[in-house]
Amino acid sequence: MINLHETTYIREIEELDFCGYTWQKVSFDKYKPPYPIEPTEGEHDFRTCEGCMTAQHDNKKKLETQFNGTDKKLPFPLCCEWHKNLSKLKEFDRSHFANAAEITAQKITYVSVHITNRLKDAENGKTDLETALKDITDYIDYALESFGKMPTGCGEPLFRNYFLNRIIHPLKGLKKSEPRNHILSFLHKKQNPSPVAKDSPDLGELLKAYDKWMNFFPLELSLFADFKKEVKVTFPFLDGEPETNKYTGVTKGKLLTKKKFIKFLQVLTKRLIDTVKLYELALSGTIKNYKIFKSEFSDANLKAQNAAIIKDFEKGEAVYTETLIKWLQAQENYIINNKKRFKKMSKTTNDNTQTRTAAEIVKSFNAIDENGYKYTFQTDKDFKKFTSLLTDFFISDKYALPTRKIKLKLRTKTRTALKIFEIYKEHTEQPLQSNTAFFDVVRTLKPFSKQTNQQIYKLMTG
Ligand SMILES: [Zn+2]
Ligand SMILES: [Zn+2]
Repeated sequence: MINLHETTYIREIEELDFCGYTWQKVSFDKYKPPYPIEPTEGEHDFRTCEGCMTAQHDNKKKLETQFNGTDKKLPFPLCCEWHKNLSKLKEFDRSHFANAAEITAQKITYVSVHITNRLKDAENGKTDLETALKDITDYIDYALESFGKMPTGCGEPLFRNYFLNRIIHPLKGLKKSEPRNHILSFLHKKQNPSPVAKDSPDLGELLKAYDKWMNFFPLELSLFADFKKEVKVTFPFLDGEPETNKYTGVTKGKLLTKKKFIKFLQVLTKRLIDTVKLYELALSGTIKNYKIFKSEFSDANLKAQNAAIIKDFEKGEAVYTETLIKWLQAQENYIINNKKRFKKMSKTTNDNTQTRTAAEIVKSFNAIDENGYKYTFQTDKDFKKFTSLLTDFFISDKYALPTRKIKLKLRTKTRTALKIFEIYKEHTEQPLQSNTAFFDVVRTLKPFSKQTNQQIYKLMTG
């Protein structure tokens, strides 16, 4: 609905869509004429209220005079040195503002009545105060947006300030109360937007800081495998919950400041390392390979120490680098001091894997026919030889191809090939076509011994 004669002059990105939220940034240069808004319903009905209608009429007259000029004042856009610059824009057309006086007068009425009605609702217990206040500020935002935009150097959106004064003035006359003060301070901020603070949020800076942390933190440790996925898809830059404006439908999130974000990274570092409990692992865990396990930690340790020396970490960032380096050092010491326990554990883990894999392969082969593996293999010895070859192939690189080919029963070649492919898919993720070593394994079966990789591939995949 909001796309009337909109022309954008990009200066800096003002709003950024990311992860389904709109992020507010500094300034866009835009030219956008004002447009009308819809009134809301409530107990006080301006349509039947003489006071409201008179005030609206007066406002309209005053604004029309400003727009058209008088003997002493020039008409819009010659009214002030800023609006004058509008005439230099090729998009500008005075007729875009022809109804500005009328619709501004309406907005003053709608917003005043909206404030009155919602505050009444809260007083009468129809809504709670917090909901009422959010409804009020959402509606004011919606109204303010409808004043359109002026490019830099072309002044304020026409009559925006007049509008704000007309809303603020009667509120000031009310007795001091929490809701009155809340709305007034909201309006004052709209009147005098505070200059960009020194530590104001900047998504680019946050992304850089996050990237720096991700390159520093040892997500490559297998103990962090689950977090690695989580961390890469999280977008942890929001300060509080994003809010949706009921009237404009826009969801806006407030970005964390860099300082707060780095604090978050410090906490995240501690949270992640706290999930690793090596003393529990040493008691009842599983590891595949002691050497790999140990070198993962010592590599991470060296990498972190080097990064801390070479890269420029800010003061806040140095807190998490120190934490992590201390932690890695302690884990490495523990692993070295408990070498025997971890080595024994990796052996048990592998033995268990071996037994399990072998059992799965046997079970799979037995399902080939009602006679089980005997459908294909001529002897028990042959079957055992082939299943242990497959097991070794899948769980380690250490396997030896038998020198003598294994014979199969007649006319079982096709079904055997299909069965082997089924087993293959259950035990490895590697694409078959490029796994040339596996074709050698298959060639230990006599009927396949003279066939090319391509031929075996075709047979296996049907
Ligand atoms: Zn009224
Ligand atoms: Zn002006």
